[in-house]
Amino acid sequence: MTNAKKELLAIADGCVKCGICAPHCPTYTHTQNENESPRGRIALIQAWAGGQLAITDKFLTHIDTCLLCRACEKSCPAVVPYGKLIDDFRAEVREDQKTSVSVQLVKTIAENKRVQRWLKSGLRFYQKNNLQKTARLLRVPSLFGLKKLERLVPDYQETQTLKNYYSARGEIQGDVGLFVGCMGELFDFETVNAAITVLTHVGFNVHLPESQTCCGALALHDGDAETAQNLANQNQLAFASDNLQAIISIASGCGSTLREYTAKNFTVKVMDISHFLLQTNIDFSQILKPLATNVRLHSPCSLKNGLRTDKSVAQLLKQIPNANISPLLETVQCCGAAGSYGLRHEKMAQTLLNELLESALEKPTDYLVSSNIGCALHIAAGLRERGDNIEVVHPIVLLARQL
Ligand code: SF4
Ligand code: SF4
Repeated sequence: MTNAKKELLAIADGCVKCGICAPHCPTYTHTQNENESPRGRIALIQAWAGGQLAITDKFLTHIDTCLLCRACEKSCPAVVPYGKLIDDFRAEVREDQKTSVSVQLVKTIAENKRVQRWLKSGLRFYQKNNLQKTARLLRVPSLFGLKKLERLVPDYQETQTLKNYYSARGEIQGDVGLFVGCMGELFDFETVNAAITVLTHVGFNVHLPESQTCCGALALHDGDAETAQNLANQNQLAFASDNLQAIISIASGCGSTLREYTAKNFTVKVMDISHFLLQTNIDFSQILKPLATNVRLHSPCSLKNGLRTDKSVAQLLKQIPNANISPLLETVQCCGAAGSYGLRHEKMAQTLLNELLESALEKPTDYLVSSNIGCALHIAAGLRERGDNIEVVHPIVLLARQL
């Protein structure tokens, strides 16, 4: 038996098969298929690593349909590191798995800054000249097999070239690093800008090292452990300065990946921006303008089950005077975006999205707040397709608009 299989077995053997995780699992909830439950998937990997089960397409599909939302991990009394088990298994069977064109395209964009620059120019032209609306009307993306990807492209936003450093205003509280993420600058510049605005406004010098790169989540969950490690090494080096008191993430999917890098002096500093601002103890109610509006909170799985700081978002936003902040129903599970999942398993992604939207639309909602760009794009696409004009924003954007 290989060492990799021994390690997988050691993790899988930690599962006592109690099934406590099952009701928390979105795929099991919808399929009632044990092979699509956490316990079932663990048993499959256990049997394969133990030499009792061969790899088949059906087996790989049961693993691939996992959203990696890690709701099971959070509910597990035996603390089975389920996310690591799946990532390590995918790395072992990588050659047996097929990567779709859309997923490959997203990975190429995420991991290559030159491609991001080309895409940024092309995207601006596409969005600004009404080509987006016309192409959607004529169903052009479908003709090229890019419908699932193109539906996520948001409306045009003005952008600027980012600097490497922004000075604090007023009394200096310290220095922080800002992890922008590969998709933030491309698809959600307002959030990047809002993070810089709020952090500098409350006294932090903000550093954006030029050499920062994709967090590696897409590669890691696709079984490409080598690329994921190279990206991790590059980010750990980019943010190595001792001056930084925190490395702030504005996408919880990236933040939870950064938090699990190997360098402890890096990981201890990683924080989601809402949690960071909350623990500064700044009284935002004294510096924000009132906003009499209904705000519903979506808690991304990466924030709830990965970083586990989802409560901080509500506590922070409740400091906006007059804002009515309420969470989505507890029964709402993963939104279905889950990295590249929505591109591979459209039906399940859509089912989960519909549940979320029904909860969001059950009472008057002006803003739907989400701390993860992948979820925000997926949810915004769903609302657009329903003809609903609720705005989906990052919490830091709401804060910045009220300064
Ligand atoms: S990570 Fe999510 S989808 Fe996958 S088994 Fe666990 S709860 Fe189910
Ligand atoms: S993963 Fe944890 S909660 Fe789920 S069956 Fe195994 S031990 Fe029980």
